Amino acid sequence: MGQSFSHPSREVTAQRKNGSEAKGCGTIRQPGWHVLIVGADADFHSAMSFALTPQALPGTALHFLHAHSTWQATQLPEQATELAVILLDALSLDTHEIIELIATLHARFNDARLIIRTSEEEKHEAHRLLAGFDIHAWLIGREIDRSDCADVFGTALHAYRQARALHMSNRGLEKILQANRHLPELGSMEEFATAVLRFLSDLLAVPEDGLICIRETLHNAQNELFVVAATGSFTELINHPASNFEPAMHKAVLQAVEQRNTVHTGEFTALYFAGEASRCLVALLRNPRVLDEIETRLLEVFCSTVSIGLTNILLVTRLHSSAFYDSLTNLPNRERLKEILDETLRQPVSLPTTLALIDIDHFAETNDTLGHQFGDHLLLAVAARLQSRLGHHLIVARVSGDTFAVLGDDMQITPDAIFAQFERPFGIDAQQVQLSATVGLLRLAEHEGSGAEALKNAQIALKRAKLQQRAGHLYFSRNMGVDIRERVNMMHALRQAFEDKQLYVVYQPQIDLRSGEAVGAEALLRWCNEDGMMISPARFIPIAEYSGLIVELGEWVLRQACLETVHLSRNGFTHFMISINVSQVQFRHPQFLAMLERTLYETQAVPHCIELEITESMAMEDPDALIKLLDRVMATGVSVAIDDFGTGFSSMSHLQKLNVDRLKIDRAFVSEITDSARGSSIAEAIIQLGRNLELDVIAEGVENEEQADILSQLGCAYGQGYLFAGPLTADRLDEWLRRNRNTCAARTTH
Ligand code: C2E
Ligand code: MG
Ligand code: MG
Repeated sequence: MGQSFSHPSREVTAQRKNGSEAKGCGTIRQPGWHVLIVGADADFHSAMSFALTPQALPGTALHFLHAHSTWQATQLPEQATELAVILLDALSLDTHEIIELIATLHARFNDARLIIRTSEEEKHEAHRLLAGFDIHAWLIGREIDRSDCADVFGTALHAYRQARALHMSNRGLEKILQANRHLPELGSMEEFATAVLRFLSDLLAVPEDGLICIRETLHNAQNELFVVAATGSFTELINHPASNFEPAMHKAVLQAVEQRNTVHTGEFTALYFAGEASRCLVALLRNPRVLDEIETRLLEVFCSTVSIGLTNILLVTRLHSSAFYDSLTNLPNRERLKEILDETLRQPVSLPTTLALIDIDHFAETNDTLGHQFGDHLLLAVAARLQSRLGHHLIVARVSGDTFAVLGDDMQITPDAIFAQFERPFGIDAQQVQLSATVGLLRLAEHEGSGAEALKNAQIALKRAKLQQRAGHLYFSRNMGVDIRERVNMMHALRQAFEDKQLYVVYQPQIDLRSGEAVGAEALLRWCNEDGMMISPARFIPIAEYSGLIVELGEWVLRQACLETVHLSRNGFTHFMISINVSQVQFRHPQFLAMLERTLYETQAVPHCIELEITESMAMEDPDALIKLLDRVMATGVSVAIDDFGTGFSSMSHLQKLNVDRLKIDRAFVSEITDSARGSSIAEAIIQLGRNLELDVIAEGVENEEQADILSQLGCAYGQGYLFAGPLTADRLDEWLRRNRNTCAARTTH
């Protein structure tokens, strides 16, 4: 007979086998399932005791609880969380009390199976009264047949096991779904890790007492894990390396990493979550309880959910740092400097601040003669000297190849202070190199406008200083605004050129990298002025945006592209898709959607053949309005791509909410792909992000076979670049497509 099976007792309180008494139904410490026997008739208890065996379900400990009244049965101890079967003696208890008891127990143990004993005479009445309950079985008769009873009990236990499994899986999956919805919205690794801990404790119903450690970088020589989040008794370990743990903890963590799997030791459960490359995350919970099969399976599902979330967060963190920090010097880059300037300019009262741009003279020549590696060391030495010697509390940034920026107090950032840094030579590889610099400065107190404009003005000052003399300096002053005059002139010329039809659209083919087939093209605007000179869109598009002309221009480009798809479709290229660049000003125009619908309608273009490219920075501004707009744009049937992806910061949660189809890798990341170590290129990170978010990825600026091969191996579906074709006029596109007819996926075969 089972260890915790107690013989019936006439005592009011129920007992455990060892006889220790407690209030209500007794105290239970052992884990396992409980069987509650309720009846005022001592014979019922004793008959049941003989009929039932605690070994009825191999592998699960059963504990019998005896209650001699319905009241006593309601006093179940808190530890009795798993009540599997309730045996009720309707013959010795009041039926109304039974109804009440069943309702109470059902609220707390809704999977427990009910077995009721009644007599032949009272059977019908009992059935009628208890019709509303899910009774597993009836035992009929005053005498109890031992083998009948054992059968009924056995089936009840199995039924309970199934109901419990279903219930637990549902509950666990519900929690995992909840985690799935919530985790991607967390921007930082700390927030993410804390949420993972919370979900885990909740899932396993254990106290919040655990920690999360992470191995984040590829270049972490010791492969050390650091604690990023901790709760309960582990809080003090935040930011500590795992090697500081007590031996049992450290062992559990290392085992999980080694086995790439969940590990249970006597004291701890260590869960392993794989990230991309060799990055990973380990959660350690103090959990003396052995997990059952369902919990183990739920954990597996949870681990894969977390692994995907983890990879995404790591990718975004890397994109963020590549978008805002210079990879050579780790200094803030141009984009970050603009943000810092914006923040500084926004502060109502700030100390008089100066922005200085320091351009190293003849750096290109040094680089060419002494080599790039030497050049890199030189830049690092300049960065280090500016940071350490120029003074405290200032910001040093690298804004382009050989131009640094310093931002700080007017008193500290003076031409003399800067030139003093270049008086002594820089020691590189046992060589002493004497450098000089030219400086352009801007006093922020005299500046009205954005951070980007402040940087532009400092650049104007620098350009002027360089024209005047090397190793000199100039402060920005308003009369330097010749560029503005130039801009106004160009604006008039552009408007005139548009009217005179000097603008035209070219199309650059886009290729399916696996099959080599052409699937579409990007529409790019061209301006050839009356002297036959080509003016780059990189120059005139910003002016068109500034003057608002882009709204008209953009509509015209869209119309040309739509007409082109119609033309191509007539020639058999029915699925050929043309991508159109859309500027911020154009996209946010209140009439944009109406214009899009009208143009599609008037040109009879098939919406599926049109894709709009918006830039990443656009995608990140005013996300709520953008989400709504994108949904409406998508409703027209056209696709949307994020252009120049990787150059601005995309938060994971924003990206997930945006209804877009493709990410377009900026060509800067394509050109560096051949010299990056596997697993460390930004292009690879973007491709993986695309895969995780189920978005297509296209790479622009593919110039050679090697780049195309690597991109294709990494899983990038499409490519665009000079390797395949440059931008072509509509006529030349026709010709190109005809020549490549056999390899054109967008063609309908007749
Ligand atoms: P984008 O949208 O990123 O366009 C890709 C640019 O990369 C194009 O420059 C294209 O000619 C160039 N390119 C293509 N393949 C290669 C390659 O293999 N190597 C290199 N180094 N470059 C390649 P483009 O035509 O000068 O356009 C510059 C930018 O002007 C575009 O960048 C886009 O932002 C803007 N733009 C062009 N046309 C339009 C337009 O119709 N509307 C708007 N709003 N913007 C436009
Ligand atoms: Mg583009
Ligand atoms: Mg682009």
